[in-house]
Amino acid sequence: MNAPRTNLPVDPARIAAVIDGLAAITEPDRPYTRRAFSALFPQGRAFLADRFREAGLETRIDAAGNLIGRRPGLKPGSGTIMLGSHSDTVPDGGRFDGIAGVAAALEVARSLADRGTALDHDLEIVDFLAEEVSVFGVSCIGSRGMAGVLPQEWLVRQSGGLTLAEGILQAGGDPARIAAQARGDIAAFLELHIEQGPVLEEEKFDIGVVTAIAGITRIEIVVDGRADHAGTTPMGGRADALAAAARLVTGVEALAKSFAGGRFHFTATVGEFSIEPNAANVVPSRARLLIDARAEERAMMDLFANSLDQMAEQIARETGTTISAPRRISDNPPTPADPMLVAVLDAACSAVDASHRRMVSGAGHDTAWMARATRSAMIFVPCRGGRSHAPEEFAENDDIALGAAVLLHAVLQLDGDLQKAIQETA
Ligand SMILES: [Zn+2]
Repeated sequence: MNAPRTNLPVDPARIAAVIDGLAAITEPDRPYTRRAFSALFPQGRAFLADRFREAGLETRIDAAGNLIGRRPGLKPGSGTIMLGSHSDTVPDGGRFDGIAGVAAALEVARSLADRGTALDHDLEIVDFLAEEVSVFGVSCIGSRGMAGVLPQEWLVRQSGGLTLAEGILQAGGDPARIAAQARGDIAAFLELHIEQGPVLEEEKFDIGVVTAIAGITRIEIVVDGRADHAGTTPMGGRADALAAAARLVTGVEALAKSFAGGRFHFTATVGEFSIEPNAANVVPSRARLLIDARAEERAMMDLFANSLDQMAEQIARETGTTISAPRRISDNPPTPADPMLVAVLDAACSAVDASHRRMVSGAGHDTAWMARATRSAMIFVPCRGGRSHAPEEFAENDDIALGAAVLLHAVLQLDGDLQKAIQETA
């Protein structure tokens, strides 16, 4: 956000070349689209694999379809320090979501090579397979696989005549061996990502050190009223499902605003909504809402769900409708970042003179799954206007380079101090 720094231990131009190179590999009339399992995805992967090899990394694809570049350490068996993110995009996505993190991770490896710095630990750079929701309707395939928590039943999910297992195979993975290859040797995982929100830009911070990734719960509510003639049924004699559902929508918003006013990150959104029969002259008989609620603290999610139950009961009573008990159709707990890594990242920010604040990620990331396998943490870099998952998504290359310098410092510190730091925080 400040003037470009000239004394960084990384090369911003090399980071830009990776990001621009991937941006050029897009569906031409639909920038920037390079979805996992699409025909274009392997082209992006081939481009990245070439860059990994140029950096001197031993490059392979693991069983879960992750592209990995490895730099062996001096002390085999000390464990792996892993850096990375994802190169797949959403449809009409941006140039930086995930990609900035892969480019920054690669730059750390290149910078170490330039300086002839040998680490004790193995260093691995990873491009996780299919972080975004793919055609198979699920996300974070590669990181779940690496962490050993990919649901087996997902492998038979189908899209366009292909199973997810076949998709992973086509990406160079080996679906039958995913569970066997779950990693137990990773000493620490770090991810750089664009913030995908406006806070760092508005508050003029260079780096966000993420303390937790919010848990995501999706709650479905169905409101049943009674279809009646819109012209002949008196206003006092109706069971209007939409009028009741509208009160639920504004109630969810009010509840979420009150929860968000406290210390902890909380959001709730009615993101899906449908009514039946959806005809101008009929009192609506049914409405369905899907709520996306995200909380840094599990207790707040439970409190929200309880409040929602009470609200639904009260609205049903007052409107003469039947409202189903709110049903959690998916429910992932929050992921706290590893406190030792958060401290290392704070210190690394100070070392490169990057202004930084701690913050919570409202978006899900591969880091949340890697945290099941090893100590994990992440940093955010600012993005313009908080825009993301859109072609307008933009991050300043110098901000990404500063983030890469933070990662480099963190890796150097971890390499020296990992054992000591683990003991201190144990
Ligand atoms: Zn992402």
